[in-house]
Amino acid sequence: MSVWAVLAAAGRGERLGSDRPKAFARLGGRPLLAESLERLEDSEWIDGIVVAAPPEWEEPSILVAEEIGAGKVRACITGGASRSESVRLALAEVPEDAAATLVHDAARPLLAEEVIERVLAPLGEGWDGVVPGLPLSDTVKRVEGEQVVETLPRGRLVAVQTPQAFVTDALRQALSGDVSDATDCASLVEARGGRVKVVHGDPRLLKVTDANDLALVESWLGADGSP
Ligand code: C5P
Repeated sequence: MSVWAVLAAAGRGERLGSDRPKAFARLGGRPLLAESLERLEDSEWIDGIVVAAPPEWEEPSILVAEEIGAGKVRACITGGASRSESVRLALAEVPEDAAATLVHDAARPLLAEEVIERVLAPLGEGWDGVVPGLPLSDTVKRVEGEQVVETLPRGRLVAVQTPQAFVTDALRQALSGDVSDATDCASLVEARGGRVKVVHGDPRLLKVTDANDLALVESWLGADGSP
């Protein structure tokens, strides 16, 4: 089974308060993008990679790939206005014979090989998609304005991360419609009636949103069993 990865790296990352896109924030002395890209390159599961780069940062993204010797990077496209748009544009570069596609946020640098394996394995059991999820420790409430209207049963909720794995055809179909409101790809597959499985996530897959997250992930670098 041929497996390709789409790396969504085209966000602006305004909450980091930097003059550059989030994918180019410094992490361990190199651009954030380098960390997840290198891990995808080194994964024995991944055959090819497509990077969705921030507009006007395509060349620097290719340079990052070259510097880490990421020979599996087959295309680097200009990202779209939303994450889903970026993934759709990148998926167009994934070949027809790629049975499975992994979609990962560059903003989650500490991608472990075990998680890649964990999300890919159930695709062979008939699932259309697989997502890593973590139980919630806070109580979650639905609100309207400042009023609480419902308290959700925490035991039945998970916080969902990336990498998310999909049967490529199911992902292509899911991305062919209106994708503007989607915050992840799995929700689009679910909306079309696709079966999505949740497997155990990884706390170290924290999404870097602000400077505190960046410092935390930096403190974990090298301590997660990676080279
Ligand atoms: O904005 P947020 O942090 O939720 O983005 C999640 C991931 O999606 C990031 O890795 C970001 O680079 C990517 N993204 C993208 N294209 C966009 C917006 C976000 O590839 N237009």
